[in-house]
Amino acid sequence: MPEPTPSSGHVTPLNEQALTSLHGVGPALEQKLNRIGLYSVQDLLFHLPLRYQDRTRVQPMGSLRVGEQVVVEGTIELTEIGFGRRRMLLCHISDGTGALLLRFFHFSNAQKEALARGTRLRCFGEVRAGKKFLEMVHPEYKRLSADEVASVEETLTPLYPTTEGVHQLKMRDLVQQALQRLLQHPDALSECLPDEIRTQYRLSALADAVRVLHQPTADISLSALQQGQHPAQQRLAFEELLAHYLSLRQLRIRMQSHTAQALHQQPPRWEAFQGNLAFTLTTAQQRVIDEILRDIQQTVPMMRLVQGDVGSGKTIVAAAAALAAIDSGFQVALMAPTEILAEQHLQNFRAWLEPLGIQVVWLSGKLKVQARRQALEQIASGQAQLVIGTHALFQDDVSFTRLALVIIDEQHRFGVHQRLALREKGSIDGAVAHQLIMTATPIPRTLAMTAYADLDVSVIDELPPGRIPVTTVVIPDNRRDEVLQRVMSACRQGSQAYWVCTLIEESESLQCQAASDTAELLQQALPDLHVGLVHGRLKSEQKEAVMSAFKGAEIDLLVATTVIEVGVDVPNANLMIIENAERLGLSQLHQLRGRVGRGGKESSCVLIYQGKLSQMARARLAAMRDSNDGFVIAQRDLELRGPGEVLGTRQTGVVQMRIADIVRDQALMPSVHIVAEKLLHTCPQVVPVLVQRWLGQNIHYGKV
Ligand code: ADP
Ligand code: MG
Repeated sequence: MPEPTPSSGHVTPLNEQALTSLHGVGPALEQKLNRIGLYSVQDLLFHLPLRYQDRTRVQPMGSLRVGEQVVVEGTIELTEIGFGRRRMLLCHISDGTGALLLRFFHFSNAQKEALARGTRLRCFGEVRAGKKFLEMVHPEYKRLSADEVASVEETLTPLYPTTEGVHQLKMRDLVQQALQRLLQHPDALSECLPDEIRTQYRLSALADAVRVLHQPTADISLSALQQGQHPAQQRLAFEELLAHYLSLRQLRIRMQSHTAQALHQQPPRWEAFQGNLAFTLTTAQQRVIDEILRDIQQTVPMMRLVQGDVGSGKTIVAAAAALAAIDSGFQVALMAPTEILAEQHLQNFRAWLEPLGIQVVWLSGKLKVQARRQALEQIASGQAQLVIGTHALFQDDVSFTRLALVIIDEQHRFGVHQRLALREKGSIDGAVAHQLIMTATPIPRTLAMTAYADLDVSVIDELPPGRIPVTTVVIPDNRRDEVLQRVMSACRQGSQAYWVCTLIEESESLQCQAASDTAELLQQALPDLHVGLVHGRLKSEQKEAVMSAFKGAEIDLLVATTVIEVGVDVPNANLMIIENAERLGLSQLHQLRGRVGRGGKESSCVLIYQGKLSQMARARLAAMRDSNDGFVIAQRDLELRGPGEVLGTRQTGVVQMRIADIVRDQALMPSVHIVAEKLLHTCPQVVPVLVQRWLGQNIHYGKV
């Protein structure tokens, strides 16, 4: 990057000014700054404080509150050595309004001498509650001479996120230099939002917002700042959300410039297909199918996300879409995140589509060489009309001849990258495949619009009739006997139950071991019952045998690892026990619980936890107990964990925001959308500037 050229008429934009152009930044420091996403002088301006300290005023000791970080001034009344668990220096000071105890665990003799009775001190630290007095532990302090009037800071003191080897003070200095540059050349930071938009949405000028946040004056509300509600923060959050949204919109526009095969709207074999089903479609399913069919008869590639709670019946919707493509003479690929789920789909789709004479082919990573070769041939020749599998579907040696529709189940496990790779995979003669994505992670609409602005969203907002909500209880491990009783009496009455073993260990073999140990113990404790076992280490045939024995009610109690999380469907099972439930995430718990409550009977779920619950775990288990609604649970999950984790897109950087918080700032989204469309139409030249500014290094996924 070129050095700035302050004297010439032309001003180098701050995003083109290298960090090394600042005083005190060499290549080594530059590298460290790169590590936390700082590449230019402009990046420093957007590197906002995590917190602030108020050193702008001296607080009377009589008005201190626990937890506050404050400046106080007082006179030493007494300094003594205390002996608690450790030797320490205790220094009592007071200012006429109140008193405070300073506590030092590390101190030198000289320090002790200097803190003699009568000395005036200025201290900064956090106020804590002690046994008798309010305290500060290891405050920063400075001795004042008898009549000295020490100055205070004029602005709140920012605390920046830093990285190893970059001190807080260094960071502060660098940001100050960046602000200085901005002050000298206001034009070096481009304001992307036109005046009329800023007026309409009450957004301050970018440069002003940046300055305020790095140097808030003493009259600014610290609590508004801490909560991200200050107008200056909202101004930047707005712009950041705008940039993210625009980048996805661009992706969508680019995608829509491709063509796709126009497929039949109403598949010829539709009547036959529907006639074979054991149930009638819900209104919501029918509506979503119509939305899909409308999309795929266009020559613009469909990019539709179907959201629906666990058990809402997404699979049949996917089957309807597949049928439309196949009836139009094309191939369909269906990808699931796990082998078990893919197998479950295979069974379902075979049952639905093979009677219509449709060829369904299986492709998983575990196929033997011979079988794999055969599958690949069928795919390449077009004989395979529907191909079902895991990631293996999209390896290089898999080539389709007439792929027109790609279906991805449980989208949240795939990132944007994979989504894009699939789009490319589908292209035939310049036409790309339609894409249908199904997810059981329901997220609030405004959030979906941000995270999936490149997709259309359909929601199956209705469960098939006759579902009775599952009753959930939370029980400590030491009341296991009660749980055993419960299992026994349920099974005696002809019900079946799941016992899910979970371990946090990554190792699959440890998990399987734990499950088989549990199965053995349970069989001993419940000798009348038939106890079965299923885990990921079993061969496919073994797994199938156990699952069909459970389906056929030959097994009363099925002990399983979390492999049954998705796809498993046994309506007579109406009791689920989940061990170590405190270790699982909300969406996983919700998925697991979704295995019961599928028949017409009352169902229940027992969450067993071990030891003392953390606050977070307690909140998760309470959320499960209080609701069966996937949307409610997902909202809670968002609040507890934040969007990056929930959407599983942390790696992709899509929802990783610097200032905005897509949960906290949801209310901004409607205006963000309007402004985005305005900019795209009226001043498209600012779009790349915004995207570059906020997504910078993360936009490699934008290259489709
Ligand atoms: P999801 O994938 O959305 O969690 P599934 O597609 O696995 O749900 O469907 C859950 C269960 O509901 C399956 O047993 C399925 O056969 C059944 N099902 C789906 N749609 C209906 C419907 N309209 N009426 C009754 N049962 C349905
Ligand atoms: Mg499903």
